[in-house]
Amino acid sequence: MSQLVIASGNAGKLREIARILAPYGIEALPQSAFNVPDCPEPHVTFVENCLAKARHASRVSGLPALADDSGICVEALGGAPGVYSARYAGEPKSDARNNEKLIADLHGVADRRAHYTCVMVYVRHPDDPEPVIAEGRWHGEIIDTPRGEGGFGYDPYFFVPQFGKTGAELGEDEKNAVSHRGIALRELVGKLKALGRIG
Ligand code: IMP
Repeated sequence: MSQLVIASGNAGKLREIARILAPYGIEALPQSAFNVPDCPEPHVTFVENCLAKARHASRVSGLPALADDSGICVEALGGAPGVYSARYAGEPKSDARNNEKLIADLHGVADRRAHYTCVMVYVRHPDDPEPVIAEGRWHGEIIDTPRGEGGFGYDPYFFVPQFGKTGAELGEDEKNAVSHRGIALRELVGKLKALGRIG
């Protein structure tokens, strides 16, 4: 079994990634197992921050690393909150305050289109000149009144016309099948297979 470090502290993400990689003989370990300290994310794009996190986790752990970075991009706001999604309403980070700010920012705005974006990066070592990069997008619309108890973050306000439901009204498997993160992860695994980096 080969090992890989996941540059995330989110238990849900770790579980999902570990489950998808296990059939390839890859043991996905959390970066907490190596005491990887938080990585600065100073960049304005998902891909740059994600690459920084992957390289950092690989450097500290001595293993190949996989990082993900995600957020919500609203058309009428020029792609904001984007990389600032987690802290849109400032510190300390709060989903409730972020959602409140988003709804206030969109007051009177007719164009409600938004999408979640997820970038995933795999590096064999910290200075890998060829990181493997995958991206996923999930399109929807921002609604003013929250619906549903599942998911997290902006999900109760993220309405998906295809289902007639918000992200918070979908089951975990239903969401993974269509979400930005699910799409990016499956694309990444496909690329790793095609490059012969996993069995
Ligand atoms: P991170 O990549 O886990 O740091 O996520 C950044 C932020 O984007 C989260 O804190 C959420 O605010 C938002 N976000 C990313 N993915 C989702 C999702 O699937 N549902 C709801 N919010 C999300």
